[in-house]
Amino acid sequence: MSEQNPDIIEVVDTTNKEQHSFQADAQQILKLVTHSIYSDREIFLRELLSNSSDALDKARFVGLSEGEFRTVENPGIRISFNEEAKTITIEDDGIGMTRDEVIENLGTIAQSGTKKFMEGLDNAGKLESMIGQFGVGFYSAFMIADKVVVDTLSIKEGEEAIRWESDGTTGYSLADSDKNTRGTRIMLFVREDAHEFVDQYRLENIAKKHSSFIQWPIHMGEEQLNEKQAIWTRDPSEVSEEEYVEFYKHLTKDYQEPLAHVHFKMEGSVSFSAVLFIPQRHSLQLDNMNYKVDLRLFQKRVQVLEHANDLLPTYLRFVCGIVDSPDVELNVSREILQKTRVVEMIKKQLTKKVLDMLKTMSKDDTEKYNTFWNDMGMLLKGGIPEDQKNKDKLVELFRCKTTASNGELRSLAEMKDDMKEGQDTLWYLSNASNPEQIGNLPILEGFKKRDWEVMLLTDAVDEWVTMTVQDYQETPVKSVSQGEFDDEEDEKTQEDKDKAQPLVEWLGELLENDVSEVRLSNRLTDSPSVLVDADGGMSSNFQNIMKALNPGQAMADTKRVLEINPSHPLVQTLSSLNAQGATDIEPFARLLLDHAAIAEGQLKDPQGFAKRLQGLMAKAASAL
Ligand code: ADP
Repeated sequence: MSEQNPDIIEVVDTTNKEQHSFQADAQQILKLVTHSIYSDREIFLRELLSNSSDALDKARFVGLSEGEFRTVENPGIRISFNEEAKTITIEDDGIGMTRDEVIENLGTIAQSGTKKFMEGLDNAGKLESMIGQFGVGFYSAFMIADKVVVDTLSIKEGEEAIRWESDGTTGYSLADSDKNTRGTRIMLFVREDAHEFVDQYRLENIAKKHSSFIQWPIHMGEEQLNEKQAIWTRDPSEVSEEEYVEFYKHLTKDYQEPLAHVHFKMEGSVSFSAVLFIPQRHSLQLDNMNYKVDLRLFQKRVQVLEHANDLLPTYLRFVCGIVDSPDVELNVSREILQKTRVVEMIKKQLTKKVLDMLKTMSKDDTEKYNTFWNDMGMLLKGGIPEDQKNKDKLVELFRCKTTASNGELRSLAEMKDDMKEGQDTLWYLSNASNPEQIGNLPILEGFKKRDWEVMLLTDAVDEWVTMTVQDYQETPVKSVSQGEFDDEEDEKTQEDKDKAQPLVEWLGELLENDVSEVRLSNRLTDSPSVLVDADGGMSSNFQNIMKALNPGQAMADTKRVLEINPSHPLVQTLSSLNAQGATDIEPFARLLLDHAAIAEGQLKDPQGFAKRLQGLMAKAASAL
């Protein structure tokens, strides 16, 4: 043991040092970080600067409350290096850490993140994304260092300075430290294969690249490396794309670039500045009821809330960024903040800006907009029933696949433009039960024959959307499966209809308990029968959704309408048998209902169906 690990022995030998082991998870992650072949090692500096910046934010916030705290003049961050000793030092005047905090923060890993981190790491290329996201940023120091020494002094008066030291393998030591100003100093003993980083020019460049979002001065020698102003207080025309991207990554810990951003200032009865981003993918926690938005609220550069949920309507919860307003109170609880006029005003403006940004994107960059829609459309369209004031804008932003779109997304405007002669309605089919098959449902046959485009809606939320949107630019929007469907008829179909009429009446009586009505259909070409929703009644899709949302709760089914196709041979045969007074056609007649249910994927009585089918097969076999 001693041979293999001389550093640890050396540490243990020193009298006032106390040896600790890393928690098992931390050891594993350290191993991965240290031995990673990840090429972009410079991110170690971004992570450490980001930690320092957070520590300074916390110090400022704590300093505003009651208590005895250590102060410093002109707090900031300092980077230095020693070319001979091959060390790099990053020092901040932040909140510092107590002994317990050091053990907690630098010796363990937040449980929640660890497992996911490990799972996500199957792919070495993902290391960068994983480091920031799962709160192991500090350990990235071991990407370039084989020894790290941390000296830290807590902001709390009475706490003593402490030194943490480790080679990043199995453990660390704790000892007294001589640090006498509040904050944290991290010294990296740079590994041989990373000596390139111990260089003025290199360090300066990396720091500049990753620090434009940091509002605290970062000095190297005399020079201040970062902008003196926070990014959101600057003039948008002076902020580069790269700076926005870095800022976004810093805020969200997302490794991907944002899809779009908007930066603006408002002055008036409520003033604020804001930088907002739309990510490429929304964070999955946003799908939960108690989601947290990635939107921070500041008051004159002091963070008031990390997750300002109330500044955005729920349907825009994917928006990330920061809002800084001198008009919000610093020490305000979320509950109180929620109700203030200031928040209402800001929310209104943010909503407007985001919707405008999406509109521009949808016009200028369809591909980008589709990326957005495929991931976040489901959230956005929730706004249509929710936000009456912005409904029209949201309807313009709505996209869906259609029977004519070949898997591509279409807007209502495009569909309206492409309406065919004789088509006076925008049609949709809403069916959340079998999204794969939706385009093949028999109910679409008549529409396909006429070449009328039908929206194919497969999200549960669509049902609420269509309840709210009954017309678009004066064109009615209707469900293909609701109500009667009129059409001008040719002679042939009229003849078929007349012939089938007695069968309809007979079936109506036979199926009295199963359906509300049997009638002849204009919707079908190839199928003998289809189930549709009674006009004005609750749609069956809606009922299915409600059932899925409230499992175990008994819910009476609304009876549906069975439509039969008078031109289909099966219907015609049944018709003539019925006219001849045949008595044993009942099972076959019932098969018309079975067929309609099966085609929808919603057979209610499989045993009965199996029996009827057996009967039919026996008959067919005996006729051979
Ligand atoms: P994260 O910053 O994502 O939580 P890190 O591994 O980077 O994860 O840091 C772990 C914790 O250590 C931080 O949450 C913070 O409490 C503490 N810490 C790290 N660096 C500093 C620092 N410079 N000053 C004070 N505390 C720090």
